[in-house]
Amino acid sequence: MDLTEQKVYFDSAEFEQLYHYDGPLGAFCGREGSKFYLWAPTAQAVLLRLYKDGHLGGAYQMEKMASIGQGVWCWETKQDLNGIYYDYQLTVNGINYETADPYAKAAGVNGERSMVIDLASTDPIGWSEDTAPAQSTETIIYETHVKDFSWDPASGVQPRWRGKYLAFCEEKTTLNGKGVAPTCLNYMKSLGVTHVQLMPVYDFGSVNEMAAADEYNWGYDPVNYNVPEGSYSTDPYHGQVRIRELKRAIQSLHKNGFRVIMDVVYNHTYHLESCLFKTVPWYFYRQTADGGASNGSGCGNELATERSMCARYILDSVLYWAEEYHIDGFRFDLMGLMDVALMEQIRSALDARWGKDEKLLYGEPWGGGTSNPRKGTQLGHKGNLHRLPSSVGAFCDVTRDMIKGSTMSAADAGIINGGYIVADIFDCCLRAWAFDNNRFHVETPGQTICYLSCHDDWTLWDKLILTLDEQGKRFIEPCEKVLAANKLGAALIFGCQGRPFILSGEEFGRTKLGLRNSYNATSSLNQLDWSRSVRFSGLVDYYKGLIALRKQLPALCDKSKAAFDRILRAKDLGRNFAGFLLNNQGSDSRWDQILLLYNVSAEPQNFSCPEGTWEVLLDAESSFRWQKPEAVKGSLKLSPVSAMYIGRKKGK
Ligand code: CA
Repeated sequence: MDLTEQKVYFDSAEFEQLYHYDGPLGAFCGREGSKFYLWAPTAQAVLLRLYKDGHLGGAYQMEKMASIGQGVWCWETKQDLNGIYYDYQLTVNGINYETADPYAKAAGVNGERSMVIDLASTDPIGWSEDTAPAQSTETIIYETHVKDFSWDPASGVQPRWRGKYLAFCEEKTTLNGKGVAPTCLNYMKSLGVTHVQLMPVYDFGSVNEMAAADEYNWGYDPVNYNVPEGSYSTDPYHGQVRIRELKRAIQSLHKNGFRVIMDVVYNHTYHLESCLFKTVPWYFYRQTADGGASNGSGCGNELATERSMCARYILDSVLYWAEEYHIDGFRFDLMGLMDVALMEQIRSALDARWGKDEKLLYGEPWGGGTSNPRKGTQLGHKGNLHRLPSSVGAFCDVTRDMIKGSTMSAADAGIINGGYIVADIFDCCLRAWAFDNNRFHVETPGQTICYLSCHDDWTLWDKLILTLDEQGKRFIEPCEKVLAANKLGAALIFGCQGRPFILSGEEFGRTKLGLRNSYNATSSLNQLDWSRSVRFSGLVDYYKGLIALRKQLPALCDKSKAAFDRILRAKDLGRNFAGFLLNNQGSDSRWDQILLLYNVSAEPQNFSCPEGTWEVLLDAESSFRWQKPEAVKGSLKLSPVSAMYIGRKKGK
């Protein structure tokens, strides 16, 4: 069978009928013995090899696996092999492949050998009582990277935990340990965000876990989907350590009031020569018509999520992270390459196990190139948002680009740095594109992730410097013009009915010195510069006030389909001024209506306050005006490039 014929066979109903398998896969151990199961329907022979160490020495035992039907190979023993490392040697069409177990739950250094693990032995103290904090009235997502978070020597985290999972367990850290300015976990608590989105923490390949020197990568290059990354652990050589330490980090985040979202990259693997490929050559990958690797990810390969055992693999993996690591939500990288049917399966399986919408799901509704799925497959890209379940969300690039300019061109400006209102500001900056828009069609505002910056592309600060600073390079110091645009941008995002999302450090003018793509740049360029959180404390306070205010505004927190009905008036649009009036009734809010005002021009703007008793909640200077509300009437004046929110006091 040549590659073209094989592609047709893998895509066929016949193959699925013969080989789809729902039983156990992977290695299991206990006092009653150990069992190994591998799905490898195209193999002619499979050899299991056992090792005492995660990378040193040869196999001390080799066993021929038995074929037990449906493409599954099995070997069992009465011994408890907890802590033993293993891999497989397969013969497929006369070619020998040596591979780790794609279903491994633990691994040795660099993930090359898998490990048999008694998972209960990896639980930290109190793990069985660990639960996520209650749902907040609003979801405010904070994206961070394990190494970025605490690598800065000024972070106050003890040196051996810097850049590691365990940094999330240090609760009282301050800048340089001086006891004044909070950093890391301590800082996040003061900020008020509700969800922490961790960039990849599954085992990825681009950082050598044995390297003596500092190595850095974002980690969008999966090797072992169900094993934590080793370089973030204090000991990558012993497979149980990284598991326990990641669990401790999640436990600490939960205890401190955060839900944890995992960034998952089921759309491609680091190399085509992955454990999935070597176990069943080509099956897990989309293929071009001639049988080669389709490259919809732009990373050289893409997973065939529509083939049933690949779908099962991904579904099992999501459920495993939710069950074993208590993960509260998933951010799907290049969701535009995952098929809609699988996203539906994931949604309903999580709902069945944990309750409706208890786990948050969203993704990037695009791919990275031309995809070639099986004919008839619907992929989760923007054009198919309406086909996804209404509780699967998506990043809204339209809003992002409209507010600050395209991520493709440094010079391109948007509303806050271009000084003009666009006609779409109503859809874009208020109602999260919900309901009847054909550019980003979602059913409820809860599906829209509203953001100005994430790990990709220029940081917000850098983008604003590149478009607003005449010299185009003053990245380091606070600059008034840029601060004003940044605050206005944040007020637009936090004035939107979608779910607000911020890149960690956006709130203190995070800079990568104008570098657009820092995925493999140095740790020092990527790290959060904690001293900057003090130098930019005015901007940090502005975000803090926005976050705290936002949680009190039902008009914006409402994620139901009825949220749109709260918009009472949105016609106060000028060339560089916009005003939106919303019904804010609900919970125990002090204000029954709110008016969101945006002045994008370089000139002040006058606005007539409506009848009634109105209070200023936020203006150019402060987002904490609501703490000591002052009544206003008559003509209101908005500073250049600024936002103002006012609220009508209830019962008056
Ligand atoms: Ca790794």
